[in-house]
Amino acid sequence: MTRTLADELARVAGREHVIADPEVRASYERDVTGRYRGEAALVVRPARDQLPGVVRACAAAGAAVVPQGGNTGLAGGQIPLGGAVVLRLDRLDAEPRIDRAAAQARVEAGVTLADLQRALAGTPYEFAVDHGARSAATLGGMAATNAGGSQVFRHGAMRAQVIGLEAVLADGSVVTRTSGLIKDNVGYDLPGLLVGSEGTLGVITELVLRLIPRRAHRLTGLLGVASTEQAVELLAALRDRVPSLVACELFFPEGMELVSAHRQVEPPFRIETGAYVLLECAGDEPPLDELAAGLEHAPRPTAEAFADDTAGRERLWLFREAHNEALNAAGVPHKFDVTVPLDRIARFEREVRRAVEPSRAVVYGHLGDGNLHVNVLGPPPEDTEIDALVLELVASHGGSISAEHGIGQSRRAFVPLGRSPADIAAMRAIKHALDPNGILNPGKLLPALVV
Ligand SMILES: Cc1cc2nc3c(=O)[nH]c(=O)nc-3n(C[C@H](O)[C@H](O)[C@H](O)COP(=O)(O)OP(=O)(O)OC[C@H]3O[C@@H](n4cnc5c(N)ncnc54)[C@H](O)[C@@H]3O)c2cc1C
Repeated sequence: MTRTLADELARVAGREHVIADPEVRASYERDVTGRYRGEAALVVRPARDQLPGVVRACAAAGAAVVPQGGNTGLAGGQIPLGGAVVLRLDRLDAEPRIDRAAAQARVEAGVTLADLQRALAGTPYEFAVDHGARSAATLGGMAATNAGGSQVFRHGAMRAQVIGLEAVLADGSVVTRTSGLIKDNVGYDLPGLLVGSEGTLGVITELVLRLIPRRAHRLTGLLGVASTEQAVELLAALRDRVPSLVACELFFPEGMELVSAHRQVEPPFRIETGAYVLLECAGDEPPLDELAAGLEHAPRPTAEAFADDTAGRERLWLFREAHNEALNAAGVPHKFDVTVPLDRIARFEREVRRAVEPSRAVVYGHLGDGNLHVNVLGPPPEDTEIDALVLELVASHGGSISAEHGIGQSRRAFVPLGRSPADIAAMRAIKHALDPNGILNPGKLLPALVV
């Protein structure tokens, strides 16, 4: 069957874009953390106009398909299970088209975040979502996971940026909502449904994205604070007093040590501190005075470093953004991406460290959204007890078990901790209506049916 399907896919997409060789396939079958590995029957790299034919051919052969953008996802959603066909979308990479009057960008799904940022350089606009995997993560993958990043508390996650999209459904039909009209209330919000659907409802091929005005001045500050409680007090003091504040990130001494050792860089200050808060301001005027005035109302930092030039700002951001790669170099972590109400976050952070002992927890995240990335080093990858322990603690604090990385394969057993039976039944009904034969990314997002 595979040979027949390979021939059919070669007919639609060209033989050079159908990969069967196990050695070449391997990089599409494992994720960046080393935790998720699978096996694909084939990897296909279709062009945009070939995608409906590719999906139809797979459907006719009864073969499951897994959309894959940059393979930077952290929930294992893009990794094939049970010999599915990987649809690698890197050929959907036409130059983004910028509409200055509408403040919109039209991008194909395989365009990376960094490529969109490059296309916007020199225009009066920026894209509001930014994160550390920008050089490889695609806008299609970011929409499919409703990616968040560092500026969500000011500008919202991907769902808030998507004005419209085009997608190929499980039967090869194409839904097109790409008029770019801001006001368009004709029926159900299909783009809203496809955003965050993790490749289980359709393959996104094009996006129309909202842009925000580019600010002339940026300032980054790294502050040491005595405790997580003080970090939250700092955020409360700055949120409304400093309108230019666009990011408020949190990490701890263990992460600072890990990154400094991994990247062989000196921390900006060497002073004992309970936590680090990384602030980013963007304004039409230099934001230092506004930030300094806001800090008057906040707990006094133990130490601080500021930069307003690109190289200096990147040096400070590195200590936050290199956490993920430093962790992957240290082992295969159990990764949790959770949100907790801000008034619970300090207690949760203490309790989760205690709960996973004697394993080591490395915690960091987007404080502005109450979003913590809890990484536990020590337990073997297949140990699910640690997952249950952490996620039940999150639920007991009124939090969410998936803040921005999605459910993928990593959290599907725990969906009932965050969604009621009625909610899950409604999601299943939508999945069944759009993909009755279950060929789009099976084994992801929805919990397994218990029969
Ligand atoms: C260093 C690092 C930092 C990160 N920081 C953040 C962060 O701050 N915030 C955040 O939200 N995430 C973050 N991530 C996670 C990741 O980068 C995002 O989830 C990213 O948006 C996924 O994009 P991708 O193209 O790599 O998608 P993939 O990993 O290829 O796929 C992810 C999911 O989307 C589906 N998918 C991919 N493309 C499509 C498509 N065109 N149509 C339908 N489904 C599709 C896949 O099937 C899979 O389920 C980070 C990752 C790394 C490695």
